[in-house]
Amino acid sequence: MKKIGEKLVIATHNEGKLREIRELLAPYGIDCVGAAEAGLPDPEETGVTFVDNAELKARQAADLSGLPALADDSGLAVDALHGDPGVRSARWAEDSEGKRDFGRAMEKVWNAVEDAGDDAGHDAHFVCALSLAWPDGRIETFEGKVFGTLCWPPRGDQGFGYDPMFVPTGHDISFGEMDPAAKHAMSHRADAFAKLVAWLDA
Ligand code: IMP
Repeated sequence: MKKIGEKLVIATHNEGKLREIRELLAPYGIDCVGAAEAGLPDPEETGVTFVDNAELKARQAADLSGLPALADDSGLAVDALHGDPGVRSARWAEDSEGKRDFGRAMEKVWNAVEDAGDDAGHDAHFVCALSLAWPDGRIETFEGKVFGTLCWPPRGDQGFGYDPMFVPTGHDISFGEMDPAAKHAMSHRADAFAKLVAWLDA
């Protein structure tokens, strides 16, 4: 098995993601340090793809901390919106002062889907790009997805972000209604993690 090291910087300032990544890595006995705790800045996400942004965040965190760093870039891609909000998923939630409100973001998504018309449908998927960067310049990236449909109004108060409006395929409850362990077993992040772990074990 390849080794990450004992300490890993999780290059995110998003508490919801940090909690999920810690839970997903708990079985591997790795000491995870959040970006805020490590004193790292929140980099500007200038990439046009999830992979670009995950690599940019992991690289910066590894270079600044001198430790291996794991970054996640993720978001919701809606078919009727040609993949939006996509890499701008967090920005769709921001007001003019940068304060995030996912109730408003979900409403914006739903209004845009309605504007697209019935034929466009409600299919969507979450994407997660996960990059592991080392201070010596190595970088490995894995991408995971989970497919489903959007529901309205939002349902449930578990999870974070767009979870209450996303019903994964084969289920009739939203990620917002789902027990966190059940979400972790099928999410885009879990899919990307499974690929990362398979790579570590190879
Ligand atoms: P970023 O990766 O920091 O740019 O943020 C991506 C945004 O996508 C988050 O702030 C959430 O709004 C959304 N997102 C990513 N993963 C999830 C998820 O598992 N559930 C709900 N929303 C998510």
